[in-house]
Amino acid sequence: MAEICDNGLLLRRIPYGDTSLIVHIITESHGRLSLMARGARRMKSPLRATLEPLYNMSLRWRPGRTGMGTLIEVERGQCLLPETHHMAGLEILSVASRLFRDGELHGYSELCAACRLLAERPADSGLMAAIWSLLETSGWLGDLDHCWICGGKSDAMRWSHGKLHCASCGNGHKVSLGLIRGMRGHMQSPQVYLPQQDLVTWRAIVQDMLQTHGLKPLSSCS
Ligand SMILES: [Zn+2]
Repeated sequence: MAEICDNGLLLRRIPYGDTSLIVHIITESHGRLSLMARGARRMKSPLRATLEPLYNMSLRWRPGRTGMGTLIEVERGQCLLPETHHMAGLEILSVASRLFRDGELHGYSELCAACRLLAERPADSGLMAAIWSLLETSGWLGDLDHCWICGGKSDAMRWSHGKLHCASCGNGHKVSLGLIRGMRGHMQSPQVYLPQQDLVTWRAIVQDMLQTHGLKPLSSCS
């Protein structure tokens, strides 16, 4: 079968046999794929050093006749994030890995955009902006000006069970208009400052979202 080249980002590496890896990669034009990287854990394998998360990669692989394709070559490009943002970057990959499934054609540009949001902001608020953009892409976020249950508008909105709602429709984390303004502003520009308390609430909302949709929560150290 003819070989295929594409750009991609590494989502997961799973050891296979004594020396190989199965890699999950999100590619620019072929969506998410699983590929066999034969011998990639051998000391001398050129794949060993190149298969790192959070780097742009140019890939060449041979598609499988029936099952998984075989990775042939990887050229590692630039790192997407500064060293200080690496832990947060891994959190983004973990969320993206659950959102974009094998065989789906989208995900690459969304993941690149999320990494850019993180790279341009402090790691803590940048992580929230990045995950928020992925949740938006997945269609999980509604209009932040209205209650998602009754459609009403109020100054004292709440958040729980993956939804924004007014005080009469439920309870949960307090979501002030200032917080919503701050979140929107920070998504658009790293210069918009987000007070620490708002960042804490934003994080709680993100955790609630991930939990509601059955995704692994963010780790406490990121
Ligand atoms: Zn309501």
